[in-house]
Amino acid sequence: MQADFVLLPGDGIGPEIVAQAKRVLTAVATAFGHEFRMTEHLMGGCAIDACGNPLPDETLQACRQSQAVLLGAVGGPKWDDPRAKTRPEVGLLKIRRELGLFANLRPTKTWDELLDASPLRREIVQGTDILFVRELTGGIYFGESGRRPHASGEEAWNVMTYSTGEIERVVRLAAHAARGRRGRLTMVDKANVLEASRLWRQVSEAVVRTEFPDLQYNVVLVDAMAMHLISKPRDFDVVVTENLFGDILTDEASMLPGSLGLAPSASIGSGGPGLFEPIHGSAPDIAGQNVANPLATILAAAMMLRYSLQLEQEAQAIEAAVNRVLAAGCRTRDIAGGGAYLSTTEMGDRVVAALA
Ligand code: NAD
Repeated sequence: MQADFVLLPGDGIGPEIVAQAKRVLTAVATAFGHEFRMTEHLMGGCAIDACGNPLPDETLQACRQSQAVLLGAVGGPKWDDPRAKTRPEVGLLKIRRELGLFANLRPTKTWDELLDASPLRREIVQGTDILFVRELTGGIYFGESGRRPHASGEEAWNVMTYSTGEIERVVRLAAHAARGRRGRLTMVDKANVLEASRLWRQVSEAVVRTEFPDLQYNVVLVDAMAMHLISKPRDFDVVVTENLFGDILTDEASMLPGSLGLAPSASIGSGGPGLFEPIHGSAPDIAGQNVANPLATILAAAMMLRYSLQLEQEAQAIEAAVNRVLAAGCRTRDIAGGGAYLSTTEMGDRVVAALA
């Protein structure tokens, strides 16, 4: 297979970790007889420095013409001035919107070798393997908002709006993912209070009943879900929810494995290129030191092969290689617990070797 990927290393540790993912993708291409063409483009703070725009037209054009986009991370103190004309995060929101990425997929998985890093007890988190599917382009973050005078000063409002079509497409995507996993789908809402949630419940149930009757399906209220996530995380397989609830729940869930450096994510839409990235930021505190953990970005590259090219075997090969290096005791500084650790490039070496 031939495929064109755009790499957006971004800022901070971005270039260091994307470089390792690139090596791994090259090794996979060789091992499986594919040709992956990878071109690097500017996005984030580095793009602001170069041309005053966090997502230059040329970058967006290249992304549109590619099969998938792998992003490191953007941002950093250099571009944090609130008076600045633009910010790196503007590029992130714009690329999601321009590529129509309506679903964010975040696998939350614990690693047996790293259970002691979890803030929860081993017997609670061991074996956790959840795929969150968060609606990404609708709801309260995109609804009407404003302020007006009020007797006490001001009042402010944000409107949560969802349409049948917006709910159907993301539930369908989550249901497909559940079919490829353990066959369980949980939809999270607040239907006891919110009208938008009542539409979610109605539409989601209709999609599952008519198109996915083989799935085990349940609904959970978001407040209960916040508790279940830390009391019985193993009970969940695929969890689908709207934008605001998903934002909060996925951050809560990201703490379960105990390390940010191992968590990838994917944003996908209807047919066009998806965006794949680690969930962590640009870690300016450790940038340029060759100590960042590249595994989340390497696992994001695995998701890219799975969801953009349907290369399941190749994706699993990368995940198995990461499993092997962790099982062999290889650690970067963030997960070494004060013990010996490998550099970013050495960790890349080990994953490439484990692939072979
Ligand atoms: P962060 O995720 O960058 O860092 C939080 C902590 O985790 C830091 O101590 C950092 O050193 C550590 N860390 C993160 N990734 C690591 C890795 N791969 N290996 C080892 N340690 C790692 O979050 P932050 O400090 O709040 O944000 C820094 C910058 O990143 C900000 O400008 C923020 O806006 C930006 N950010 C970008 C994205 C993105 O590009 N998608 C996401 C979150 C934050």
